[in-house]
Amino acid sequence: MEAFTESVLHVDMDAFFVEVERRERVDLRGRPVVVGGTGRRGVVAAASYEARAYGIYSAMPMVHARRLCPSVVVLPPDHHKYRAASEQVFRILRSFTPVVESLSVDEAFLDVRGLRRHYSDPVGVGMGIRDRLRQDLELPASVGIAVNKFLAKLASEAAKPDGLRHVPANESLAFLHPLPVRLLWGVGEATHASLERLGVATVGDLAEVPEATLKKHLGEAAGAHLHELSWGRDSRSVVPESVAKSISVEETYEHDLRGKESVEGELLRHANRLSSRLRTAGVTGRALTLKIRYADFTTLTRSVTLETPTDVARDLYRAARDNLLGKFALDAKPIRLIGVSMARLTSANAPRQLAVDRPAKWDDLADAVEHVRQRYGSGSIGPARLVGDPEREE
Ligand SMILES: [Mg+2]
Repeated sequence: MEAFTESVLHVDMDAFFVEVERRERVDLRGRPVVVGGTGRRGVVAAASYEARAYGIYSAMPMVHARRLCPSVVVLPPDHHKYRAASEQVFRILRSFTPVVESLSVDEAFLDVRGLRRHYSDPVGVGMGIRDRLRQDLELPASVGIAVNKFLAKLASEAAKPDGLRHVPANESLAFLHPLPVRLLWGVGEATHASLERLGVATVGDLAEVPEATLKKHLGEAAGAHLHELSWGRDSRSVVPESVAKSISVEETYEHDLRGKESVEGELLRHANRLSSRLRTAGVTGRALTLKIRYADFTTLTRSVTLETPTDVARDLYRAARDNLLGKFALDAKPIRLIGVSMARLTSANAPRQLAVDRPAKWDDLADAVEHVRQRYGSGSIGPARLVGDPEREE
């Protein structure tokens, strides 16, 4: 838990359009390259870091860029190609966690708290993401890691190009305060001018100005907003665009199951796998459904709504066993498939849950296994013979 205090990652591809082009143009590596309109009124859409060294930046008129660096290579944009590359990038990001909020084609926030069982700290996640993007896609990315979105974005900016910057919680202000105030979100030209008149150059200067003074000069909302930012505070959570409506696990058995005991044993395995998937997705759920398909292909589903959302294996198992299993004829017909799914999902990343570390998955499983063993003997839980495992196809 401790090691995951800084759980927000900002992943930003470096000179994205240019690097996508360079994958096919090895001859352009290490050279000043821009992507953008080549006509008289064209502007720079992306500039390689070699081009930026000449003072070229995005949105600059192309004629100006050519003047700064006559040898710059100008490539016309191919947005279809960048869109496809962007999809590859986001597929990799979502393979780490579904809690991915895209900001643009080449930039996203990730909340990686759900990965704490898989990595010792968020830096490991950030390094893993950079490696995957580099190895699978040959694309460089910079990663910022901090306690919130605002600081993570500034951290990735500080990491560029092709770097990683981790800002530990207790170093947030030491990182933030020396930065120029215009880097803050919401500081445009007019605000910047007002702040300069107040003698504010750095974020640290801004933090020294009483909130009331900021409100007087910038207005209530902007004053309050900037005061919060100057102290590194940002309560917005990472909001994935499409939270799954339900998460399920199911198995078709090579040999039909018979009897309540074997079904309970499988239910236990399913509860544990479902728990694992919910936690990886960073969600908890309330609507638990059990599906059973008999050997004659008749399929029945029964659902129960839980009082509180959960992702704990033991709770899932008990809820299914106590509320749902009795609604099926378990001894009458052989069973071909068992599935368990959870719907009415909510993000498990609500701030209130930060303080409470939940019991380890294996503790829950151990309890549940023990329960079944006590009731039915140790032979009741054995390895399942899998025919198809839907988890592996994703
Ligand atoms: Mg970028």
